[in-house]
Amino acid sequence: MAQVRFLTLLTLISILVIGFESQGQTQQQNPGPIGPIAQPSASPTPTPIPLPPPTVKVDGYRTAAGRIIGAALTSDHAYARLAHLTDHIGNRLSGSKNLERAIEWAVAEMKRDGLDNVRAEKVMVPHWVRGEESLQLLTPVARNLQMLGLGNSVGTPPAGISAEAVVVRDFAELDRLGEKVRGKIVVYNAPFIDYGTTVVYRLQGASRAARYGAVAALVRSITPVSLQTPHTGAMNYDANQPKIPVAAVTIEVAELLQRMNDRGDRPTLRLKMEAKFLPDAESANVVAELKGTEKPGEIVLVSGHFDSWDVGAGAHDDGGGCIVAWEAARLLKELGLRPRRTIRVVLYTNEENGLRGGNAYRDAHRLEIPKHILAIESDSGVFRPEGFGLVASAPLQVRSNLQQIAKLLSGIGADQIATNGGGADIGAIMREGVVGASLDVEGSHYFDIHHTPADTLDKVNPRELALCVATMAVMAYTVADLPELISK
Ligand SMILES: [Zn+2]
Repeated sequence: MAQVRFLTLLTLISILVIGFESQGQTQQQNPGPIGPIAQPSASPTPTPIPLPPPTVKVDGYRTAAGRIIGAALTSDHAYARLAHLTDHIGNRLSGSKNLERAIEWAVAEMKRDGLDNVRAEKVMVPHWVRGEESLQLLTPVARNLQMLGLGNSVGTPPAGISAEAVVVRDFAELDRLGEKVRGKIVVYNAPFIDYGTTVVYRLQGASRAARYGAVAALVRSITPVSLQTPHTGAMNYDANQPKIPVAAVTIEVAELLQRMNDRGDRPTLRLKMEAKFLPDAESANVVAELKGTEKPGEIVLVSGHFDSWDVGAGAHDDGGGCIVAWEAARLLKELGLRPRRTIRVVLYTNEENGLRGGNAYRDAHRLEIPKHILAIESDSGVFRPEGFGLVASAPLQVRSNLQQIAKLLSGIGADQIATNGGGADIGAIMREGVVGASLDVEGSHYFDIHHTPADTLDKVNPRELALCVATMAVMAYTVADLPELISK
C-alpha cells in the first residue's frame, strides 16, 4: 500500500457514504462496511510539511533494534502460529465457533508466552450466517455462476428469486433506467478503480436498486483481478428502502452478463440465499501486555482484528496482522527487552461486520485513553513492510520523532512514515484523541485475495511476515522505552 492513505478513505467513506455507527452519535446504527479501506490508486503528491527537529535520541536503540530484527528473521514462530490459526482453526466470522476457538487458543498461548495481564474482554457481536447459496443463469443458457453473498444481506425465499438481469456500469446508469429495473435483478459491473472508490457498490448497491423496485442485486467483486474468485464483504441497508438480497459475482460473471445484456439477450437468473442474522453472540477482544518497568500506566498499543470473513482462512486479513502484534510483544519478552512503558497487544473482535470490538475497547478503557501514547493497527496484509502511516492530524513533534525512530528500520526498508494512516478498530480511540498509525506494507496484491476463499496461508511469505514483526516490535519498543514522550 505504498500510496494507500487508508484513514482518509475510511473517514471519507464512513462519513459520506455509510453512516457508520462508530463514526458518531448522529449516524444511523449500521453494521460496518469495514475491512481494510484502501488507498486511491493515484498517490497523492505528499506536500512536505516543515517539521520541528526531533527531540528523541535513538542512537542508543541501535543495538536493541538489531537484536529484534535478527531474532524475528531467524524465528519461524510467527509463521507457525499463523499456520495454526489458519490451517487448524480456520476462518473466524463474528459469532462463529471458530472465532471462539481462536480466542481461547490465543489466551492460553499468550499465558504460556508469559505475557502479563492476559485476558478476554467480553464483547457482544452480531451473528450473521451465510447458509447455502447459489446463482444460476436460467436463460439464454443454463449454467451455475460463481457468487458469494455479501455480509449482512438478507436471504431469499427458499425457492429463490428468479428474474431478468439488468446490467449497469455505475449508479448513473441505474438512475437513468430508474423504474425500468422494477421486478428485476440489478447487476453492478463497476470496474475496480481503487478499493475506497469502488466499494460503494458493495456497500450501497442493494438499497440504491431497491429504491427503483429491483428484487435483488449482484455486485462485481471489488478487486482488480479475478480467477473466478468472488469477494465478499459487508454491505449496509438504507433504512428507508426495502431490504433485498445482494451477492458478489466474479469479474468473469459480471462481464458475461454484461455481454448478454448488451446483445439484448435479456438473461434471467435464479438467486438463492439462506443468509440471516441470529441473535447477538458473545465474543471478546483478546488483550495481553508486556508491562512497563517504570511507567506501566502509559501504553503503546499494537493490534489487529481477530475476526475474518467466513471464507478462506483470514490469513492476510487479518490473522497475519494479529500475529504481528502478538509476536512483537512475545519476541521482546524473549529478548529480555522490557520497556519503561507498557506494550499492550489487542486482538479486536468484529472488525469486519460491526466494529463492536473497537468500540468496546474504547468504552472499557475510557479512563486510560489519555495514557495511550500511540496506537498501531496492522490490517493491510502482511506483505513486505514499508513503515507506518501516521494519522494526518498527529502533532508535528510526534511525526518528527517517529521519522527519527523509523531510521532504526532503514536497513530493512521499513523506515517510511507516511502522511496518513490509522485503522478501523483503533478509530474509536483515535476519535478520543489517541495518535494512531497503521503498519504499512507493499499492498499491490492485497485486493487480489481480500475477503475471498483464496486468503490462505500459502499467500503469506514467511520472510515478509517476519519483517512485519520486526518493524512493529522495533517501533513499539522504542516508543515505549524512550525516556521522553514522543509528543514532547
Ligand atoms: Zn481486515
